[in-house]
Amino acid sequence: MKNKCENCGKCCLETEMILSSEDIELINKNLNDNIGEGDFVFKNNNKHFQLKNIEGHCKFLDLFSKKCKIYEFRPQGCRFYPLIYDINKKKCIPDEDCPRTNLFYINIQDLKNACQNLKIFLEKQLNMKIN
Ligand code: SF4
Ligand code: SF4
Repeated sequence: MKNKCENCGKCCLETEMILSSEDIELINKNLNDNIGEGDFVFKNNNKHFQLKNIEGHCKFLDLFSKKCKIYEFRPQGCRFYPLIYDINKKKCIPDEDCPRTNLFYINIQDLKNACQNLKIFLEKQLNMKIN
């Protein structure tokens, strides 16, 4: 079966990924001692924690392999991707930056479940009002 993700790395360029406190805690716990929270996270204008970009890409993107250096403990939002929530349309949508969205969530029930979980994550862990 064809891999869903082609590791193009596009989703990790100029990332605007929001992090929950749990995401930060998990990353901190697994990083080695010479990388601190201030190296990978900042508070954005909406007072949400957000992944930092370094030279146009997420600090954790391996530019050579185009893979995530913290894949095992990557943030929740990166796990839902390419499914994102459009606040204005009030619905889950596949992110148009990903060239493989047609391979993710082929099954409609999987898509519904993922969307439900994404909304729960946004409400419970990021305190976002989405409805
Ligand atoms: S944490 Fe990993 S998957 Fe998420 S944006 Fe950074 S490099 Fe990409
Ligand atoms: S943009 Fe899509 S295909 Fe490319 S690395 Fe991200 S999830 Fe994989």
